[in-house]
Amino acid sequence: MTDCIFCKILNKEIPSKFVYEDDCCFAINDINPKAKKHILVIPKEHIESLNQITDFELVKNLFIAIRNITKQENITDFKTQINTGKNAGQEVMHLHIHILAN
Ligand code: 5GP
Ligand code: ZN
Repeated sequence: MTDCIFCKILNKEIPSKFVYEDDCCFAINDINPKAKKHILVIPKEHIESLNQITDFELVKNLFIAIRNITKQENITDFKTQINTGKNAGQEVMHLHIHILAN
């Protein structure tokens, strides 16, 4: 999608260091961290939110990615958060999972 910040990061139109990447998704450090470690796990496919998921294989793959990322970052205790919809605090309309660890 042309006007999506996460698609632009994926397409390297906006520079951002990937802390993780696989076939389904990539991960970056949140620009405005709300914990010591705040990582965003973002599917490569532009899906607006959890409400638009039709391929639930993606959900499995995102959770595999979370396990890989937390292992890689030596995180054992963490929170995950998915904001769905503007009224629930979703600011970027491209599905992403927050990983928060202190
Ligand atoms: P949401 O509120 O949509 O669940 O979360 C969006 C998150 O993306 C916010 O925590 C915000 O700080 C982060 N964010 C927004 N723009 C950028 C960006 O350009 N780069 C990075 N790394 N994070 C961003
Ligand atoms: Zn997008």
